[in-house]
Amino acid sequence: MSLGSVQSTLSNLKSCQADIGEYMDIVSDVALGIVEAQGTTTSPAMKKLEEMILECSRLDGEINCLMESVDELTAQARHEPPEAMANLQNSVQERFTELLSGVSQADLERHSKVVAFRENVRKYAMQASQASAGNEEEELDEDIAVTQSQTNFICPLTQVEMVNPVRNKKCNHYYDQEAVLGMIKNKQKNKKKFRCPKVGCGNTDVQQSDLELDLVLKRTIQNNKRQSGKP
Ligand SMILES: [Zn+2]
Repeated sequence: MSLGSVQSTLSNLKSCQADIGEYMDIVSDVALGIVEAQGTTTSPAMKKLEEMILECSRLDGEINCLMESVDELTAQARHEPPEAMANLQNSVQERFTELLSGVSQADLERHSKVVAFRENVRKYAMQASQASAGNEEEELDEDIAVTQSQTNFICPLTQVEMVNPVRNKKCNHYYDQEAVLGMIKNKQKNKKKFRCPKVGCGNTDVQQSDLELDLVLKRTIQNNKRQSGKP
């Protein structure tokens, strides 16, 4: 095992983690579809999805443990003679087992995408029940509500309706995913920080890791579009 092959394995694991993250978003979105179709958050299908997302969290955690043990031990091995590499594999295995045994069920539940899954389902169910209650109110109120919500659908970067709305966890502002990632990348290329474009916001350093896809808002925008008959 050479350090080069270790590095390429690590980068494979990272892309594997990105896939798991995307898969978790898909599971969350399917859950929202169930809330929409069945109007309940406690169906057997929902239970199954919850098991699936916890399983993803477990996999993600395992990869973290593996990457951490490889990182730690390759850092050590750099300062040792090449023969030491032979022992590295065993040491990694030991360290990995040790780290993994420290992962609890509570850790799996704390995964940001597991938390988001539960939060999204709760929020979407509440929104759906409010919407059906709101239908009985006067038309005027409904018009105001629609206008207000539509302004929140607009990306401050593109000035058009968002397709994949991401929330900035630091300042709570929303942008379209593609636009904001493009801006961050662009600024990074010029060694500059990207300031939150929302008027009056004091966040001067927007990081990709601060952004979280908001599946509830995405679905709300899609539904709104469908209802108003826009393409
Ligand atoms: Zn902001």
